Amino acid sequence: ATPTSIMVGTGKGAEMGVLFRGGDALQSLRDVQVVALDKTGTLTQGQPQLTGITVLADHDEAEVLTLAAALESRSEHPLAQAVVRAARQRGLDLPDVEHFESLTGLGLQGRVGGHELLMGSPRFLAEAGIDLEDVQDAVASLTAQGSTPVLIAVDQQPAALLGISDPPKPSSAAAMAHLKSLGLKVVMITGDDERTAQAVARQLGIDEVVAQVLPEGKVAAVQRLRACGNKVAFVGDGINDAPALAAADVGLAIGSGTDVAMESAGVVLMSDDLHQVAHAIALSRATIGNIK
Ligand code: ADP
Ligand code: MG
Repeated sequence: ATPTSIMVGTGKGAEMGVLFRGGDALQSLRDVQVVALDKTGTLTQGQPQLTGITVLADHDEAEVLTLAAALESRSEHPLAQAVVRAARQRGLDLPDVEHFESLTGLGLQGRVGGHELLMGSPRFLAEAGIDLEDVQDAVASLTAQGSTPVLIAVDQQPAALLGISDPPKPSSAAAMAHLKSLGLKVVMITGDDERTAQAVARQLGIDEVVAQVLPEGKVAAVQRLRACGNKVAFVGDGINDAPALAAADVGLAIGSGTDVAMESAGVVLMSDDLHQVAHAIALSRATIGNIK
């Protein structure tokens, strides 16, 4: 491509809210065959709501929600905000947390009111040796709806199961169809539960899912797609997505996402409508043309 065509393409991108941070991304996008996307906050609205609490053993709902929200008040995860918001809406006072620890992509632990709390994905609690047999069915029915199951154990005993729902953006399904109409393969990459991710993918017409991965796992997934000879674009919004944005042939960050994501991406999308991804690729194909 000539410097002039890059300049024209970059200008047109800016007009449609697609900001190319340098000419490389505009050029590389032309050859992209696979678009991999983060789920939470990218394909979904990213503002999860607590939709249900199942209390186990002889725990009281307000008591468990208080403990859970106290722990989550120390986390910046979108799931944490859903739990804290629900507790505040019920007027619950949140006690202090000691020995707080956040395990990225897994959950939280800490000591509240003399109790040892563990909170997070079923996998995280299972690995911590919590017996989850009695909640398997409840977890399965949440994940089948595309909700995220968050478990709480108090003193090593399962105490409650929270259902947290983060609906897809209204435009996401059409945006995925748009990408496919350009001949692109679409893949979801997420740290969320495998069955939750599959349910959301089905709603969006996405046929390939890589789930339950830690942030390094997102990078590994991008590298695997690249190792198959594909040119890969990755779309994400979170701090967790920064390494994958940098590892892709082209990283596209949602402009309303985190600064870290934007700094790691070659392209910043000013709207959170994922049609912008298809527009960016179509623009690259039109400006760069078929001959370099
Ligand atoms: P995503 O890729 O969807 O943004 P993350 O890697 O941030 O997901 O988190 C993966 C999983 O780890 C979540 O679905 C949840 O089960 C668990 N998890 C992470 N942080 C928390 C938290 N603060 N509270 C409860 N669960 C959490
Ligand atoms: Mg995200």
